[in-house]
Amino acid sequence: MQYFSLQNQQQQVSFETAVVQGIAPDKGLYFPEQIPTLDKDFIANLHDYTDHEIGYKVIRPFVGDEIPEEALLKIVKDTLHFPFPIQKVTGHTYALELFHGPTLAFKDVGARFMAGCLGYFRRNSTKPVTVLVATSGDTGGAVASGFFNVPGVEVVILYPSKKVSTLQEKQLTTLGGNIRALEIEGTFDDCQAIVKAAFLDQELQEHRQLTSANSINVARWLPQMFYYFLAYKQMKAAHPRLVFSVPSGNFGNICAGLMAAAMGLPVSHFVAATNINDTVPRFMGSGKYEPGKALPTLSNAMDVADPSNFVRVLQLFGNSLPALKEKFTALSFNDKDTARTMERVWKENHYMLDPHGAVGFMGLQQYLETAPELTGVFLETAHPVKFEDTAPKSIRDEIYTPPRVMSLYNKEKTATLLPADYTAFKNWLMR
Ligand SMILES: *Cc1c(COP(=O)(O)O)cnc(C)c1O
Repeated sequence: MQYFSLQNQQQQVSFETAVVQGIAPDKGLYFPEQIPTLDKDFIANLHDYTDHEIGYKVIRPFVGDEIPEEALLKIVKDTLHFPFPIQKVTGHTYALELFHGPTLAFKDVGARFMAGCLGYFRRNSTKPVTVLVATSGDTGGAVASGFFNVPGVEVVILYPSKKVSTLQEKQLTTLGGNIRALEIEGTFDDCQAIVKAAFLDQELQEHRQLTSANSINVARWLPQMFYYFLAYKQMKAAHPRLVFSVPSGNFGNICAGLMAAAMGLPVSHFVAATNINDTVPRFMGSGKYEPGKALPTLSNAMDVADPSNFVRVLQLFGNSLPALKEKFTALSFNDKDTARTMERVWKENHYMLDPHGAVGFMGLQQYLETAPELTGVFLETAHPVKFEDTAPKSIRDEIYTPPRVMSLYNKEKTATLLPADYTAFKNWLMR
């Protein structure tokens, strides 16, 4: 499979180049030159395949022959290393729980798959590659865990001091080994500015090979298709007509679902549920793409004003708004309703939502009012314990803390404190 840049369709690169570069030199996102379709028999008989076999079959055409069968199968196994259960929440709505991985959020899937691919591509290299990542919380933890102990890969994570939750900070700063955390005395934007400057710095690039692990990397985006197939496998006997609702920020997760559907997975409809950062819901109404400034909300992993993956969503539908509307609805919800929904669903259904899942749940409920014949699955993208600090008071004490989280709180933090200044960062990295 070749990949082209959405800025310039002429220049094609291999899967390996797309993974190692992350973003095309012209700053475009990589997109596969064609969309593979899966065998109808395979889809009809998903229940006959193991989860690993399904993941392998789905991703194989995107990797081509660049990773041999045995190695790719191992990467898929390491990625799908934890369960993806579905829980009934109300009569017609089910939660697809994506938080049973090491850092309790769905980003573990993409991070683990990317780590496996990068580790494979670097297997014979003598010069280690440095993965540089700025995080506002969830991404850094998933990347740290996914890349931990991958030979030939060093990870440097920049996070804003005092602006990530205690649990998130522990996930970034307690692994050691090939993972190093930089606590930046500034904001997330400062961290991102330093990372961007590093990628433009020729001198630094000569000193070490840098790559990014942000969510636009094809090796983080595409494996997110896996759990749509696994959900369909679990649901299809009783509920063949499904709508998925995906709490969306950068729109990578929902774009993976749309890609799964394009490959042949029978899904009736997709709902993108956002918080008040509603650039896409507004676009669906007006046809005008007008990103504002990101506003802080309870579902902070979705506080994105200019969702980077939306160009891929449009590309999947030939950049046609009417075509997109047939398969895709975007709805936005505020914090007040998010908090109320968390309280209500706990009280009435005894299901604990996290704020992101709550947005997905509301999107699903609203859409199902117009399509009562469908069964809905919303993606519960993080464990509620990750957002315990901001959960409504009335339910905070009811949130379950998994044992592995408890042990994390007891681990020692190791981070280097640096000012929000590029020179200070560079000196640290070059030393
Ligand atoms: C990253 C994240 C999202 C948003 O996913 P996108 O792929 O960026 O749309 C939603 N929920 C949680 C918990 C996240 O960490």
